[in-house]
Order: sequence, then C-alpha cells, then structure tokens
Amino acid sequence: MTAPAFRIEQNPTPISAEERAAVLENPGFGKRFTDHMALIDWTLEEGWHDARIVPYGPFQMDPASSIFHYGQEVFEGLKAYRHADGSIHTFRPERNAARLRQSAKRLALPELPDELFIGAIEELVKIDAEWVPAHGEGMSLYLRPFIIANESFLGVRAAHRATFCVIACPAGSYFADPTRPVSIWLSQQFSRAGRGGTGFAKCGGNYAASLLPTTEAYAQGCEQVLFLDSCENRYLEELGGMNILLVKKDGTILTPDSDSILPGITRDTLLELAEQDGHRVERRRIALDEWRDGVASGEIVEAFACGTAAVVSPIGVLKAPNFTLENPPVTAESVSMKLRAKLTGIQNGDVADTNGWLH
Ligand code: PMP
Repeated sequence: MTAPAFRIEQNPTPISAEERAAVLENPGFGKRFTDHMALIDWTLEEGWHDARIVPYGPFQMDPASSIFHYGQEVFEGLKAYRHADGSIHTFRPERNAARLRQSAKRLALPELPDELFIGAIEELVKIDAEWVPAHGEGMSLYLRPFIIANESFLGVRAAHRATFCVIACPAGSYFADPTRPVSIWLSQQFSRAGRGGTGFAKCGGNYAASLLPTTEAYAQGCEQVLFLDSCENRYLEELGGMNILLVKKDGTILTPDSDSILPGITRDTLLELAEQDGHRVERRRIALDEWRDGVASGEIVEAFACGTAAVVSPIGVLKAPNFTLENPPVTAESVSMKLRAKLTGIQNGDVADTNGWLH
C-alpha cells in the first residue's frame, strides 16, 4: 500500500510550548485541541481528493449544508499512546477504518478507503507529536475522525459532497479512578436504536437519542445509562458509550449479540485476549433477568463495561425505577481487572504485543 500524499500547511501561530505543557499536565478530555487537523474532500464527480493537513480551526459552512438538517454524519474514536522509549503508537486503527466504512455505508455517505484513513491519522499524529502526553497509565492523544455531508441542498437524499476530518485532543483518565465501579441507570422508557436502524453505526444521531436518557441517569445519581432491546425491552444492548460484558463463576464471559449495538473494538480485543487466556466466550442474547437471577444465585460474579475512552469499568449498581441490582465487588483477581491490565499494558508498550495490534 503506498501512502497517499497529504499537502501540509503548517500552523503559523501554534499554541506556545508553555501553554501546551500546561494542557498536557492536566489534559481532561475533549476541550483543548492540537495545532492541526486532517481534511479530505469528497464529491460525487471527483471522489475523494485534496488530502491535507491544515491549522486547526473553524469551518465556514453554508447554512443549507445537509449535516445541519438531516444529520448525515459518522465518526470514530481512537487513541495514540506514547511508549516509555518515546515512540508513538495507535491501537488497531485498521479496525476503526473498517467500522467507519460500515457506518458511512449505513448513512449513505461515501466510504473512505482505509489507506486514506490511516494516512490521515499518521500525518496528524506526526505533525502534532508533541501533543501526545508522556508515557503513563490512562494518558493518550484522542483522535476523532468524522465525515459530514456538506452539500448545500435541502432535498432529502444522500448528499453529493462530504468532508472527512480528523481532530485530536490530549486525554487523561476518563474516570478519576478507573477501577472504581460505575453506577448505571436502566433506561426503560427510551431506546437508543431499533431493529433495522442505525444502532451498529457510529453516527451522531444515535448519541443524540441517548442524551435525554443519560440526563435522566445523572438525575438518578448514575454515571451511565444502559439500554435494552427496543422490541421486547428484555435483552441487554449496551451503555450510552460502552459495551457490556458479564462474567460467570466458571470464567465464561457473556456479551450481547445484537445488530443494533456498536461493535466495539475494545470489546473484541478483550474477548480475544480472554480466549487466549482460556476463557469461554458467548456472544448471544442476554435477558436482563438472566443477569439479575445470576447475581442472586452467585452464577454471575462480574459485570463490566468497556470502550476506547475508559477501557474497562466495573459496574457497581444497576438502578431501575422498580429495582436495584448490586453487583459483586471487584478485586485485583477479577477477570475484568486482569483483562484491563493486559490491554492497557499492550497499548502503553509495557506488555508484549504478541498479536501485532500496535501501529
Ligand atoms: N458502544 C457505544 C455506543 C460507543 O459509543 C462506544 C465507544 N466508541 C462503544 C460501544 C465501545 O466501542 P470501542 O471499544 O470501539 O470504543
């Protein structure tokens, strides 16, 4: 694969080294962005063209742009990690490239070739390398690739113009103590996605639909929301921004199989690591009652959530209007904590990457 050529336009007024150091000291998440961004345009006539790195800054857009009216948009999320020797690595970026293509297809957006996706990530990380935080647990440069439809036309049809963009921001740990169990609210009134809908795609609309139930979760003192299937309101789907897994007493790991949830790359990776460690894995429908009965009988010993941002978070309480489920406490011996240590170790370069996942 030959690397596509990106035109590079250096930012003439980058953020000062002192200010950048202050941001990297305490990066938080998603508020401070690096000096550059990657852009590639697409039109129906020309296809993908004009791959470039330019100074980070606002877009000028026509108010009739399709994204503003019909929400034709897809995105991705991945991280770059600094290893102890100073080198910088992303983790399975080809999986994000493939998922972006799947999402784009569902949203009738053009599919970006993988080499352009990877090329944009490489060029942006290279030019803004000083923004990748120092080697350390939970520290990374978060990369946000996205595609927006930007044809100026109010007709309801797939747009004939789109732009792919990648922006980046330094990130610290998502939760202050990543091993502290999170509390989740069971959304019974609202679904996130339905059969035949866009649940498997990473599109903005899915997140818009999850915001009201998430607000409800916060009002209930919970940190995340859990969705059930939209048909029977019985089977586990996923959290607002993470996949869910349960662990049985015999070490078997259960996770929902559904075409209305996001196929998480963290989840796939954890399950591959678990299988390599001899765990049985079952991807199937899991009724909420199976979880509740399993905790009551001692058959289910762990529940946890996973995703790029927080990696692995044990689930403490599941709260619903009519019941509260207390999950067993986590220990250093918990399957979720061992998997977490292995995965973060590989990402940070402290555990051998025997699967060739680092890029
Ligand atoms: N489900 C949803 C709804 C998400 O937003 C995310 C985060 N991208 C995940 C699951 C986890 O996916 P990944 O492991 O690829 O980050």
